[in-house]
Amino acid sequence: MDLLNTLVEKGLRRETPTREEALAVLATSDDELLDVVAAAGKVRRQWFGRRVKLNYLVNLKSGLCPEDCSYCSQRLGSKADILKYTWLKPDEASQAAAAGIAGGAKRVCLVASGRGPTDRDVERVGRTIEAIKEQNEGVEVCACLGLLSDGQAERLKTAGADAYNHNLNTSEGTYGEITTTHTYADRVDTVQKAHAAGLSACSGLIAGMGETDEDLVDVVFALRELDSDSVPVNFLIPFEGTPLAKEWNLSPQRCLRILAMVRFVCPDVEVRIAGGREVHLRSMQPLALNIANSIFLGDYLTSEGQAGKADLDMIADAGFEVEGAGTTTLPAHRADALAAAGGGSGSHASAGGCGSEASAGCGGHGEAAGGCGPCGGHAAAPADAPAEVPAAASEARTDLVAVRRRGAGTDLAPNT
Ligand code: SF4
Repeated sequence: MDLLNTLVEKGLRRETPTREEALAVLATSDDELLDVVAAAGKVRRQWFGRRVKLNYLVNLKSGLCPEDCSYCSQRLGSKADILKYTWLKPDEASQAAAAGIAGGAKRVCLVASGRGPTDRDVERVGRTIEAIKEQNEGVEVCACLGLLSDGQAERLKTAGADAYNHNLNTSEGTYGEITTTHTYADRVDTVQKAHAAGLSACSGLIAGMGETDEDLVDVVFALRELDSDSVPVNFLIPFEGTPLAKEWNLSPQRCLRILAMVRFVCPDVEVRIAGGREVHLRSMQPLALNIANSIFLGDYLTSEGQAGKADLDMIADAGFEVEGAGTTTLPAHRADALAAAGGGSGSHASAGGCGSEASAGCGGHGEAAGGCGPCGGHAAAPADAPAEVPAAASEARTDLVAVRRRGAGTDLAPNT
């Protein structure tokens, strides 16, 4: 297929594909899907080998958010029956982080619900970062605390943060249909503040909120423009009790096409499969590892993931390896650029490897898995969804959604 050959060549050269090429990936048929995955796999292996980076979410503060992100189970007015608690103490957060690190995670993503941190919150998170780093040498820490005010990114950097996550979530054109309490421009501003402070920028999207293919391409091109080091791709978990509870629009095939499009547009950045992996990719998760080079281990912010051991078994069975703490995630050219900007812990500075998610990964602010969700204003399937998407694509799989009841904020052991 000429399209795929062209995309592979461009990906290997870090050249941006055209919008038409990105849209064409989303429009491929099921008959072409394995070829699409194989082509994206060539680009993935060029920049990240067969390594899979594991990230671990610690929800520092859950629920009770004053913002109205429609996809989010922690939003204002959410009726979702999630865990609600205020700030974990630094030692509690450090304990939770240690469990994830013992399970194989290389990055810890510290997430807190809310519009953005106060200076006191930043101080508190700084103490938490110090506690985690004292006890876990070499671990990367990403903060995901919402919109940042002037000077806060610098203070987080001084406290030892390696990265900051703030997702764009969807296109500029549809952002207002998802959230009314802040704007797309606010989000861009925070990613730029993180970047300017020398933090590794992590920013991604949520698919499945009723957006069009054009919206998806718009947001991925915007992320490339922002030059995020890592791009978490969330697949909306339509939480009962949120405005997007009925938005079951994704099939495993559609998720694979979206991931491949992200890989072709952002060939040398960490593409992370974030919230909704188990719910929407289901038994196709191992295939997706050929495209993405990073996942979350264990549970998400407000929902439970598959058992941590199942994540590790899946990686081994699919012929991939967990990225070790001594390996740099990002390819050398990106790691060097980050180091030159004053960023990057040891783990970003050497050559070769790959990188970051948050948080995105991190949930609270862009994760479909209970953090941030779909847009209220959208109806069911996107108008331009491929005609071949089977009816099962929009079948509600509420049986696969489990609200988190263990780990941070509970007395029960975390899933790692
Ligand atoms: S995504 Fe973040 S800011 Fe939006 S409602 Fe959820 S916790 Fe609040």
